[in-house]
Amino acid sequence: MQAKINKSTLSLIEGDITRQDTDAIVNAANKSLRGGGGVDGAIHRAGGPKILEECIKIGGCETGEAVITTGGNLKAKYVIHTVGPVYRDGEHNEPRLLENAYRNSLLLASSKGIKGIAFPSISTGAYGYPLEEAAEIALKTSVTYLKEHTDIELIRFVLFGRHALGVYEMVLKRLMEGYI
Ligand code: ADP
Repeated sequence: MQAKINKSTLSLIEGDITRQDTDAIVNAANKSLRGGGGVDGAIHRAGGPKILEECIKIGGCETGEAVITTGGNLKAKYVIHTVGPVYRDGEHNEPRLLENAYRNSLLLASSKGIKGIAFPSISTGAYGYPLEEAAEIALKTSVTYLKEHTDIELIRFVLFGRHALGVYEMVLKRLMEGYI
């Protein structure tokens, strides 16, 4: 599924984030930047040791912030590492922190002249964020960003499995129809 926002494209696909050919892919990292499971593990395995070397030099990343490294052996030239919130009950600033993770990743991409960026569904794996709520924040933040900035031409969400894709599609449809 695709949506046009100004001249830019917001696209939703089912797939593997490590295989994307966008200028940058986003890692759902943890604060230590030392690698982990899920998306993080897959990116470091596919991208090779240069990514981790740079992450170690950077030292760490606060929740909601973003940093950038090489893409190593990946097709993508860059990996943007962002740290989503661990979901507790929704009353601990989780929505704002998740919004920050997306927005700061996009701001960093813009500052590097990146035109195409692929995101996984941040915080909805090990960090336990309810998928539909996370999708709403991910997509609203992306649409708002594309309305305000014309430099990024493509934001692609790469969802793991049919179910996640279906939830994101439903939320994007609602958003484009003005219901949320
Ligand atoms: P977090 O710790 O931020 O929750 P995870 O990596 O545990 O991050 O999971 C985030 C989401 O990414 C989950 O919905 C998971 O199903 C999905 N995911 C896991 N591996 C991949 C992959 N290779 N490509 C795209 N999405 C993935």
